[in-house]
Amino acid sequence: MASVELHGLHRRFGEVVALAGIDLNVPSGEFLSLLGPSGCGKTTALRLIAGFDRPTSGRVLIDGKDVTGVPPNRRDIGMVFQAYSLFPNMTAERNVEFGLRIRKQSRAQRRARAAELLELIGLGHAGKRYPHQLSGGMQQRVALARALAIEPSVLLLDEPLSALDAKVRVQLREEIRRIQLELGITTIYVTHDQEEALSISDRVAVMYGGKIEQIGSPAEMYGSPATPFVAEFIGTMNRLVATVGDGGTIDYAGARFRVDAARDLPRGEKVLCLVRPETVDIVPVGDGTRGDGTIVGEVVARTFLGSVTRVRVEDDGARSLTADLSSAQAEPLSVGTRVVAGFPADAARLLSLAESD
Ligand code: ATP
Repeated sequence: MASVELHGLHRRFGEVVALAGIDLNVPSGEFLSLLGPSGCGKTTALRLIAGFDRPTSGRVLIDGKDVTGVPPNRRDIGMVFQAYSLFPNMTAERNVEFGLRIRKQSRAQRRARAAELLELIGLGHAGKRYPHQLSGGMQQRVALARALAIEPSVLLLDEPLSALDAKVRVQLREEIRRIQLELGITTIYVTHDQEEALSISDRVAVMYGGKIEQIGSPAEMYGSPATPFVAEFIGTMNRLVATVGDGGTIDYAGARFRVDAARDLPRGEKVLCLVRPETVDIVPVGDGTRGDGTIVGEVVARTFLGSVTRVRVEDDGARSLTADLSSAQAEPLSVGTRVVAGFPADAARLLSLAESD
């Protein structure tokens, strides 16, 4: 298996800066996701790693070797795209064998390898079927097997699940991760779906405007977003524009909250206070206040999300907090109920607005 390194990667298309200087080091065997909204440069980065495109400046290294000018077929990569890009006139088996035929392996070798891979992806029985006889999820499995057949050192996946329905998407992403771990193959996975990225990756790089905003483990990205963009993009987040007050407090539009992180910041500093909805507590007025600072207001929205219900509270001062509560706890909190909402002092992160916005 091989490491992938990007050094100062820039790519311009005329006036459009698709990549504005990417540095990235993906160690051998890692599963890294490039996560970001449409147009942030994910696909451009992947195409440069694959060799389908050349950077305006910067270098791509695979296994320590500079491959910036090397064509795709000599980079030792396997690739899976969003659209099921199988050859329609070939059976699943022949599709999987394709790369091996080009590499002049014997028929017996190809057959054995294709059978092994079809088994690995759970399609041992479907080798003789043509793509149109397979579901979308099955076709993507075959595309994965085809990419793996040549035993590449690096696997590149560009939104491979986005054309599939939700249930198949979850099944297949688990499958991709299982196979990646089994083979130990260095994998770079492009997606705009934060849940997908967090659930299968060793590390996630969040991209925005042609740059990497932050890179870290899923837990780091979720728990300690470094910029307002990452905070917003990864999961739902309360974003309170506030000012640092005295003694570890913040002032959020006139309401005072105790926030541990405020102790380290100068009084009067403008901050974005980030609070995950699962740390916010909401109780009916009169049930006693919880949290280190509260707002008193009304439930204005409720969204049932299965195991949790998302409840949004607003007060007269246009302050707002959103909580994810167990559906049992949320039950008495119908729209219009007078409630107290707060969060513990250690649950909030503060980002200086001077630096980041
Ligand atoms: P999506 O998820 O929508 O594919 P992305 O994050 O993969 O988005 P890219 O496809 O890498 O984004 O595109 C980054 C920017 O570069 C966009 O503004 C896009 O319009 C532009 N771009 C990409 N390829 C080309 C091209 N061949 N010619 C001109 N502009 C391009």
